[in-house]
Amino acid sequence: MIKGRIAELLQNTQYLQEVEVQGWVRSFRSNRFVALNDGSTINNIQVVIDYENTPEEILKRINVGASVLFRGTLQESQGSGQQVEILATEIEILGDANPEEVKKTILSPKRHSLEKLREQAHLRVRTNTFGAIMRVRSRLAFAVHDYFQRNNFFYVNTPIITASDAEGAGEMFQVTSLDLENLPKTEDGKVDYSEDFFAKETNLTVSGQLEGETYAMGLGQIYTFGPTFRAENSNTTRHLAEFWMIEPEMAFCDLDRNMDIAEDFIKYVLRYILENCQDDLAFLEKRQQEEEKAKPEKERSAMSLTEKLRFVVDNNFKRVSYTEAIEILMNSKPNKKKKFKYVIEEWGADLQSEHERYLVEKHFKCPVILFDYPASIKAFYMRLNEDNKTVRAMDILFPGIGEIVGGSQREERLDVLQDKMTALGIDQKELWWYLDTRRFGTCVHSGFGLGFERLVLFSTGMSNIRDVIPYPRTPHNAEF
Ligand code: ATP
Ligand code: MN
Repeated sequence: MIKGRIAELLQNTQYLQEVEVQGWVRSFRSNRFVALNDGSTINNIQVVIDYENTPEEILKRINVGASVLFRGTLQESQGSGQQVEILATEIEILGDANPEEVKKTILSPKRHSLEKLREQAHLRVRTNTFGAIMRVRSRLAFAVHDYFQRNNFFYVNTPIITASDAEGAGEMFQVTSLDLENLPKTEDGKVDYSEDFFAKETNLTVSGQLEGETYAMGLGQIYTFGPTFRAENSNTTRHLAEFWMIEPEMAFCDLDRNMDIAEDFIKYVLRYILENCQDDLAFLEKRQQEEEKAKPEKERSAMSLTEKLRFVVDNNFKRVSYTEAIEILMNSKPNKKKKFKYVIEEWGADLQSEHERYLVEKHFKCPVILFDYPASIKAFYMRLNEDNKTVRAMDILFPGIGEIVGGSQREERLDVLQDKMTALGIDQKELWWYLDTRRFGTCVHSGFGLGFERLVLFSTGMSNIRDVIPYPRTPHNAEF
């Protein structure tokens, strides 16, 4: 008896063997053909039932959504569309699903909008679309570890609760065990955090970078891959309040090598899913093409999902300095005609996503790495260039996504870093441990952060970040 998951059985051509499968019914037609899915693949296995010799009681319970165990014989399929099927000899209903109840859910076999699926996020993983997305997500996560482990990086778990609030990466969620109805106060009327759990103010981390840097200074090359939190009140299709970030940090590494690694890394993981998620990508590609049909002709993308992934894997990312990018933008049609919401007036302007998308989608038509940004719009820890006005920062911009990576060479000179912190009013006492890395054996080092969900978004061709994480957290939404 072969007991296997459907993904394995579908590959099996040892016909006439006894097999056992368990899964959920996706459809049941003509009282004879069951399409069974167990989550291991986008493909269902067909189970053929000898209905004349099956009790009516059992047939009635083979409903969409029910979990069923079948034993039977593996045989070459008579019908088209599949190679193998199972001729059932034994049927065990494991868990019923009442058809009247199922009808009210997204399990009912008809088209449901993505919005509707979000409202039933606990069930949506049983649909073809979400099964495919979540399998691709899982394979991508594996490929992330695979890439770094093969290249001699070590996986580091940085803290999720932190006291450092100087990173400036985003708004933070506060962590406290104080009774909010009855807060302890200091003499001058402020909340007395010495009474709090950690005896100081703490938050959920917005980035593991600073701690990551300290570990790179011992292990040489590290990466983090964990949850990060931002209390940004921005309701966009690219922002979550809770997302997973991958943050490599490399000692003895300058910005050029940082960009090389980031590009190589992204290509590696995309190549990995092209090779290992073919069925799911084929399904997602079809889904996306249907979605595209609903759009006006000129908004449709010229490339299919897998063409887009291949394009990224096969072509060099275009590297452009901030200064060049500003020139391009100032001379662009939408800027001259004031079509941008934020018109670029001068060097030093912060780039909005409309500008990033113009560069990537209209001007270069390929992934772009922007580097050497004005110091004034970037974080305090970025390496100041010799021109004293730009820093060794880099952002990778992707079509349809905008920023997918943000990184930099870090300021390794203690005095320059301290001056910068003083100028920005960042407390050096709080970050004494961070400054120690510059006191003891400092070195040129670099790193970047890649938002995992933005990568999954690109990889699956979905358009809303809420659809690539099981339970999205966004402003006013923490259901499930
Ligand atoms: P953006 O400008 O898109 O808001 P950011 O500049 O705030 O991003 P960084 O602080 O550089 O982002 O974070 C590194 C990476 O984390 C980004 O390149 C992006 O891929 C991802 N990221 C940042 N904020 C979010 C978010 N709210 N939800 C999902 N991913 C995010
Ligand atoms: Mn950024």
